[in-house]
Amino acid sequence: MKQLLFENQASCQPSSTWKRCHIITFGCQMNEYDSLKMMQMLRHEYILSDTPENADLILINTCSIREKAEHKLYSLLGRLRPLKQKNPALRIGVTGCVAQQLGKKLLHRAPFVDMVLGPHGIYSLPNMLERIGCGETALVETKLYHSFQIPYIKAPLTESSNVRAFVTIMQGCDNFCTYCIVPFVRGRETSRPVNQILAEIDSLVEQGVKDITLLGQNVNSYGRNLAEGVNFPALLHAIASSYPNIRLRFTTSHPKDLSDSLIECFSRIPAVCEHLHLPVQAGANRILKRMNRKYDIESYIEKVQKLRETCPDISLTTDIIVGFPGETDEDFQETLDLLKKIRFDQIFAFRYSERPGTAAARFTDQVPEETRKKRLAKVIELQNRIGLEQLKRYENKVMECLVENGSGMKLQARTRGNHVVNLTGSEHLIGRTLNIYIEKACHHSLKGRIVN
Ligand code: SF4
Repeated sequence: MKQLLFENQASCQPSSTWKRCHIITFGCQMNEYDSLKMMQMLRHEYILSDTPENADLILINTCSIREKAEHKLYSLLGRLRPLKQKNPALRIGVTGCVAQQLGKKLLHRAPFVDMVLGPHGIYSLPNMLERIGCGETALVETKLYHSFQIPYIKAPLTESSNVRAFVTIMQGCDNFCTYCIVPFVRGRETSRPVNQILAEIDSLVEQGVKDITLLGQNVNSYGRNLAEGVNFPALLHAIASSYPNIRLRFTTSHPKDLSDSLIECFSRIPAVCEHLHLPVQAGANRILKRMNRKYDIESYIEKVQKLRETCPDISLTTDIIVGFPGETDEDFQETLDLLKKIRFDQIFAFRYSERPGTAAARFTDQVPEETRKKRLAKVIELQNRIGLEQLKRYENKVMECLVENGSGMKLQARTRGNHVVNLTGSEHLIGRTLNIYIEKACHHSLKGRIVN
């Protein structure tokens, strides 16, 4: 659970007419971005409250990727209920993927909730609040649209650091991996028009942002439904030619759509950072087929080889699911073998857990929970060793790092390969790109010092 902080509003002097909004965000970067957009939509009326107790509006932006998401939401709502009893003017809204899944059902169980808005419904938030102000109650907006829904809002930066920012370039997904709920709760894939993306980047760069991550469920298929005839490599070229001095990253990339022309962008476009998150999910072809991932392990390895030939410094990260239905000891061993072969810089490993409504939840050969836990522990143990060995390759080297945040004399910087570097230095260095000598590799981060 993450609470988004909106520091820009520290500069707005709260008057007695400002209302207060408390936002609780669960889940991925996409949800963080959506929370940011909600706050931007409310910026003329609300300032951010860091506690629910003195808020006029509480928004819970939910995620159904996480285990027991529904249960967690109801228990959070149970804790918020006394606030509504004490202050009937308090508005409570549930938004995001769980809101999409539950719709009206949520209001039966938690009738004190004022509105339920799915991921596309959040863009009607100001209108919903107006309707509630006019006396309407129990509003639900869970329609999924076939066009890109995120409006471009020119608003001050609202992240706790102004150095990095995310820009959504796509919504939804057409891939229907059998374990995933996203296509059902975020709708079909739609791409954002290029001019809107450039306008948002322009506003961010103007405000000092230096590192931009383009977001989408599968950015590699960007442009498929756009009349403009632009694909993802063309979008990268367009952004980099307008903003050659930014650091440009993107996530997530589906391996089946990683084209040769996108691989070439890592060597041809200096703004594109040497990092790629390429979720493989499993090492056995049998399991990839049951996951409906639409690639086999041989083609995945071939793409990794091409990436490393094109960009020898590239840092690779991935997602792994262990204990997918039907996964045998032999299948699991293939995942371990793959980790040893590819040697990712970092992995995000998960125990498979059923998502109601997905195809895999109906598979009858579920792996016992105990086995899933043991397999996850093995994967983490192996990757901890590999990850540290991978980081050690940077020891005693000087790397170009962007200082992102810090307090006191403790600073945090980031390499182009997306590794975090801890160092000592004054806060005025935040936002500067420095040469940092890497003294030591630690688990999941580096330790360095500034080179004169
Ligand atoms: S590509 Fe697969 S895992 Fe990713 S969002 Fe789409 S359905 Fe889910």
